[in-house]
Amino acid sequence: MSEEKNTPASNFLRNIIERDLAQGAFASRHWAGAPGDAAHHAAGAPDPAKIRTRFPPEPNGYLHIGHAKSICLNFGLARDYGGVCHMRFDDTNPEKEEQEYVDSITDSVKWLGFGWEAFGRSHLYFASDYFDFMYRAAEYLIEAGRAYVDSQSADEMRATRGTLTEPGKNSPWRDRPSAESLALFREMRDGKHPDGAMVLRAKIDMASPNINLRDPAIYRIKHAHHHNTGDKWCVYPMYTYAHPLEDAVEGVTHSICTLEFEDQRPFYDWVLERLAEGGLLAHPLPRQYEFARLNLTYVVLSKRKLIELVEKKYVNGWDDPRMPTLVGARRRGYTPEGFRLFAERIGVAKADSWIEYTILEDCMRETLNESAARRIAVLDPIKLVMDNYPHEQSEDCFAPNHPQKPELGKRVIPLSRELWIEREDFAETPPGGYFRLYPGNRVRLRYGYVVECTGCEKDADGKVTVVHCNYLPETKSGTPGADSVKVKGNIHWVSAAHAHAAEVRLYDRLFKDPHPGAGERDYLNDLNPDSCKTITAQLEPALKDAQPEECFQFERHGYFVADGKDSAAGKPVFNRTVTLRDAWQK
Ligand code: ATP
Ligand code: MG
Repeated sequence: MSEEKNTPASNFLRNIIERDLAQGAFASRHWAGAPGDAAHHAAGAPDPAKIRTRFPPEPNGYLHIGHAKSICLNFGLARDYGGVCHMRFDDTNPEKEEQEYVDSITDSVKWLGFGWEAFGRSHLYFASDYFDFMYRAAEYLIEAGRAYVDSQSADEMRATRGTLTEPGKNSPWRDRPSAESLALFREMRDGKHPDGAMVLRAKIDMASPNINLRDPAIYRIKHAHHHNTGDKWCVYPMYTYAHPLEDAVEGVTHSICTLEFEDQRPFYDWVLERLAEGGLLAHPLPRQYEFARLNLTYVVLSKRKLIELVEKKYVNGWDDPRMPTLVGARRRGYTPEGFRLFAERIGVAKADSWIEYTILEDCMRETLNESAARRIAVLDPIKLVMDNYPHEQSEDCFAPNHPQKPELGKRVIPLSRELWIEREDFAETPPGGYFRLYPGNRVRLRYGYVVECTGCEKDADGKVTVVHCNYLPETKSGTPGADSVKVKGNIHWVSAAHAHAAEVRLYDRLFKDPHPGAGERDYLNDLNPDSCKTITAQLEPALKDAQPEECFQFERHGYFVADGKDSAAGKPVFNRTVTLRDAWQK
């Protein structure tokens, strides 16, 4: 494997798959149309899928940006190599699994643009459907002398496990006759023993330098209700035993997981080899490969921390637009195309590293730049009055919906005597290099006229309340006189008589430190106090009809999306997805 560590990041899994395809490593597999054991698949036809991968979440939480990497990887490889990726719920743990999560997870995978219909059927699977097979495989291991029931307590087992430098000690029950283990295992299954009274362990090697091979537990007693199998079972397989079996019965070829499972790979192979020896599974067996999980700066992905953020109300639920969950990212206006681009750009590495958050934001900017219609919003409004423009008059100006896509046409932007402009686009005394409005200066009202600033009004505190100007009638954009007056500044505006006020949420990063909680700090101390600012903005008329989840570029400001939850018909609420430029680069 060592040469794989040095292959270009994005390619090591592709290299493996291409090698396997070239060698026909998985060509002899049969597929009976549904998961099953060796005999079941043998009766089927040669597998039409060249490779099979899987995405196997536990339905115990919402998917996050890290999962998006795994989804794009597994579904992307299957698509690129004529295979199929199974959507599999790893629901072997009876506790904490809920339909709500199953629904949210399938929604998010589809939203990212992937599906599991292939070769004429759906490949949505539940690992709990394999409990019968897992149990039968365990009985086989006992009969073959490869597993035993250990009656030690959990504490005793822990005490005899050894350490990284010392071997473990054999359990006194290790050599109990197979028939006795089998009888006890059946009693476990039949509910004759309480939780923790005994476990089934693989009989491998208590002196193995890999602690995971020191007779790992494969079945435990748990008197618990399961969402799928109800009260049928009171013994449940351990994850490390269940996972290779799930892969094998589904005919998975490349089982791609994160690096922390690297030390489990020998056990993964051990289980499959033993069951193949017994004829329960057929060669070629699935193979496990590990890649580095995604770590993103300014983001926490740990389930414990995300739960804490929600439960202690640092955010407004799992779909808060600041959350790194996919439901949150979606409300924030992040796009599936952006996630797919991101997954491609960061590639797949064999070693853990941190990915800069700006890379994700740039991917969103790039995809939104393509797709988002341009609109005008004044976020911090102040009045601009064109004193020489007739009262009661208004006229149409025209602005392209997308500067690079003339085929998307133009929209009407009405202009009248009183406008809203950005407060920062006026300065009574301009700082050096300031080309916007100040007394005596001329700027272009984008898509409209050139105006010359004449002064301002102020309130008792000296705060500017109204800016005054005169417009130059011959200079309207799109007319022959437009270029007759040259100006350096170009500002956006909306007509006060036509604009509508709307709630806009200016979201920013949830954490202000690139490595929240690094060192001894509590990650909660790194929360960005300015991660959400709610304002009332003045928007151009066309934005009134924005549909939930519709994305726009607000010119000069960034990308915004009509909130999918809080927008009402004719009254959209907007979330800032990302600014036009990164304000965080130091
Ligand atoms: P848990 O702690 O509950 O196991 P998990 O984040 O591992 O949480 P799973 O539902 O087991 O959640 O994850 C499903 C798949 O997503 C796994 O194959 C896992 O390897 C992958 N995955 C999870 N987190 C990341 C991450 N940060 N980067 C890449 N892949 C990830
Ligand atoms: Mg996991």
